Amino acid sequence: MDLSAVSKDIERVIVSEEDLQKRIKELAAQVDKDYAGKDLLLLGVLKGAVMAVADLSRALQRHVEMDWMAVSSYGSGTKSSGVVRILKDLDRDITGRNVLIIEDIVDTGLTLSWLKANLESRGAANVEILTILRKPEAAKVEVNVKYIGFDIPSDFVIGYGLDFDEKYRNLPFIGVLAKHMYS
Ligand code: 5GP
Repeated sequence: MDLSAVSKDIERVIVSEEDLQKRIKELAAQVDKDYAGKDLLLLGVLKGAVMAVADLSRALQRHVEMDWMAVSSYGSGTKSSGVVRILKDLDRDITGRNVLIIEDIVDTGLTLSWLKANLESRGAANVEILTILRKPEAAKVEVNVKYIGFDIPSDFVIGYGLDFDEKYRNLPFIGVLAKHMYS
């Protein structure tokens, strides 16, 4: 879906489709280098990371396995609490595997810090994180994120997997949702 279809709902575009795709290729080249000669399991966090896994995996010049988890963070309204419930678990055992978690966005960091600890406790050899976006100003806990697409301000963003009320995930760019859409 193009910007013209949703221009009234978007305050501004913060990452264009072109910049996103360019950055994904750079990240893929880095992942190729860092995991050369090692096995690699891409773990997408549903639903937001679907686009990132699809694009990143196709930019990698190697075999990868893919698995998916869906988690829900308990909290009041839109605020994350760090108490996480697994809605869909991994299909396979990850003992001894090199796991790369793929996320759409790191906001407070609470969800990812829980997820990383959870995967490490299952005996993964190595758990790293790749996120398309990070909001450094919103961080509540220190999470070691190895690969970051873009640092962005603490606005509510949509597109490229990120939704508002389950919509806008299929935008190829990232935009700030216009205030009139939720206030
Ligand atoms: P946290 O890092 O606070 O635990 O939570 C991260 C999750 O909150 C993300 O996976 C995403 O689902 C949601 N989230 C945080 N910021 C935004 C945002 O700006 N837009 C959207 N659509 N979701 C967000």
